[in-house]
Amino acid sequence: SRTIVWFRDDLRIGDNPALHEAVNRGEPIVAVFVFDERSPGIRPLGGASRWWLHHSLNALEGELNGLGITLVLRRGAAGKMIRELVAETGADAIYWNRRYGLPERDIDAQLKSELRDAGLDVRSFGANLLFEPWTVRTGSGTPYGVFTPFWKACLALPEPREPLPAPTGARDARPAVDSDDVTDWQLLPTDPDWATGFRETWEPGEASAHTRLEAFLADDLPDYATKRDRPDRAVTSRLSPHLRWGEISPHEIWHQTRARHAGGPHANAAQKFLAEVGWREFAWHVLFHIPDLATKNWRSEFDAFPWPRLNPARLEAWQRGRTGVALVDAGMRELWHTGTMHNRVRMVTASFLTKNLMIDWRKGEQWFWDTLVDADAASNPFGWQWVAGSGSDAAPYFRIFNPELQAAKFDPDGAYVGRWAPEHAGEDAPEPIVDLKATRDAALAAYETVKNAR
Ligand code: FAD
Repeated sequence: SRTIVWFRDDLRIGDNPALHEAVNRGEPIVAVFVFDERSPGIRPLGGASRWWLHHSLNALEGELNGLGITLVLRRGAAGKMIRELVAETGADAIYWNRRYGLPERDIDAQLKSELRDAGLDVRSFGANLLFEPWTVRTGSGTPYGVFTPFWKACLALPEPREPLPAPTGARDARPAVDSDDVTDWQLLPTDPDWATGFRETWEPGEASAHTRLEAFLADDLPDYATKRDRPDRAVTSRLSPHLRWGEISPHEIWHQTRARHAGGPHANAAQKFLAEVGWREFAWHVLFHIPDLATKNWRSEFDAFPWPRLNPARLEAWQRGRTGVALVDAGMRELWHTGTMHNRVRMVTASFLTKNLMIDWRKGEQWFWDTLVDADAASNPFGWQWVAGSGSDAAPYFRIFNPELQAAKFDPDGAYVGRWAPEHAGEDAPEPIVDLKATRDAALAAYETVKNAR
């Protein structure tokens, strides 16, 4: 007999419940990752995510080899690929960690019932969220729509479990089955190679996720509460892509943060940091209950919003960081170059697109989906709807960020703009492509339609 461990958004060996239980089971292990662009409803990965995945799979392979396990790669519709692998290996058990998007849940539920009917031991585990979405409920049993009470309810639940240690004593399944070579999937850019800045900025994989967390807790957390909104100061954890791919678990983050800082002089900063991890939990809670968050307005009265006809030149100016607005241009270029953008600047650039340029938030969501290394099926549409005002716990639509005031407040010395959009510092600074005040007024007028649709 054999145990298949199916890796998905959990590309790690530490604190991996499915792998842990498979090792405990004692039978030889077949580890597999399926690159699925075929199953209905699965959102194809953006370019930046593909880059990350390539390197993360290499890292996972190294980690698994260290345990004596081979990683099998397959490409195709997950249901079909897993059924084939079960047949090829004669596996009598398959374990995985849960996914929370609807198309993924459908695939997993179908496979689970089918394989169980065929007599396999099929087990799924909670691994990538601190609080399973269905366990956090309001007094009346409904899901939460607002962050603060959601997080309060989470904190009243039993504390998240301790992380599991990386397993030892695994048995590899021999003879090995066929595996794709990750280079055949062509996940990396070639012509042009836009990933130079990515390579300078990131090191995907479990080992560097742990190094990042440790460095953050030691060096940056003390300033987190006061400086996390400053794009010119690199004090945030930069763990988001590692979390997106499950190279580190939120349980690890939770317990290490608490062990190091709870009760100490930086307890407040630690609490603030864990609350940000809580926003990720909340985004997934929302996506679990509202699966089409990336395509549909969460608040349906927003369907009445009179988006003007798309102006492609304006969209492109925003994408390329050529809007003539310093903080917006700096952010969009940081994104293009490195695959990330500071949270404060994400809010400013998103506000500028949806309000000053009056472009539907979905266009921005798609661009971020393609260009962010942390592009996340929950946090990205959640963030966009939050800024656009169509989300339930949203910034009200009329809160239109003034990018100039934001820059003065959060990049007071101009260091961030100077780094990414230096032409804005000189005498010949470019002019904004739209008038900030006039477009703000127009946006507010358009919003009246939504108010009247209520
Ligand atoms: P830290 O401040 O160190 O926070 C720690 C962790 O908490 C992050 O790694 C992340 O997992 C989580 N987190 C922090 N803030 C948020 C938040 N507002 N919402 C959800 N989770 C949060 N985050 C993504 O992970 N993927 C996305 O695709 C994404 N798209 C966004 C789009 C928009 C328009 C906006 C406004 C925000 C978006 N965010 C997204 C949230 C946030 O900007 C990033 O999580 C954060 O900038 C990552 O940097 P960090 O790891 O240094 O964060």
